[in-house]
Amino acid sequence: MNISSAIFDRSAPDLDSCPDESLPEFAFIGRSNVGKSSLLNMLSGRKDLARVSTTPGHTKLINFFTMNKTWRLVDLPGYGFAQVARKDRSKFNRAVAEYLKLRTSLCCVFALIDSGLPPQKLDIEFVEWLISNSVPFVLVFTKIDAVAPATVQKNIEAFKECISPWFEKLPEIHTCSATMKHGRTELLTVIEKALIEAYAESGPLLDASETSAEDPPAAVRKVSNRPQGKRPNPARPW
Ligand code: GDP
Repeated sequence: MNISSAIFDRSAPDLDSCPDESLPEFAFIGRSNVGKSSLLNMLSGRKDLARVSTTPGHTKLINFFTMNKTWRLVDLPGYGFAQVARKDRSKFNRAVAEYLKLRTSLCCVFALIDSGLPPQKLDIEFVEWLISNSVPFVLVFTKIDAVAPATVQKNIEAFKECISPWFEKLPEIHTCSATMKHGRTELLTVIEKALIEAYAESGPLLDASETSAEDPPAAVRKVSNRPQGKRPNPARPW
């Protein structure tokens, strides 16, 4: 999938302020410093797509970008800010938790994990939370260029072992390096496949004017025709 357009839509402090649910959404989240901004810039092919998300005042908001006019990239606030006051932290956690639990247009969460670190408690707890709330997700190990391949492999295996008791079949696992431009095609393919599934349900085709030559499915359909409360992509990774 090519990215022909990436347009900042809005920053939302809570679920009520999010845009309508007319487009499938793909959300990115991870601990602070995991490499999320760099990854989003790489995926979008824009040097400063994530700039807005790192602007003071926006870091705790849910940031929406409309991609190719057919889907939304959602930049969620990082978790694990030890320095955030308890009161603030619970507030921003609630917005993210509500978004993840209740947003019916959410197709898939990309849970970012630093490949250079052994399994971190916060990441494991977050994965457990995703599972217990039936949120569809894939794991993306970031910055694989930063440490030796054997270390990356060891850390991924250790992470898999930590979460394997919760799965019959492990979630999809991907790797990336924004520095080496690795993983872009793979991650965009995950999105493209989910889009095809999401749009395969009934509904009128998008107008030709709403898509571009590079836009994914020829048979793109509006998600808003989905029954309320049903995620567009029920293909959970477990
Ligand atoms: P965020 O806080 O999750 O948005 O992380 P950033 O994208 O701002 O990256 C945090 C730090 O990791 C910065 O110093 C980046 O230059 C660095 N970084 C991000 N992605 C990569 C990567 O793929 N490889 C390496 N070696 N460093 C990276």
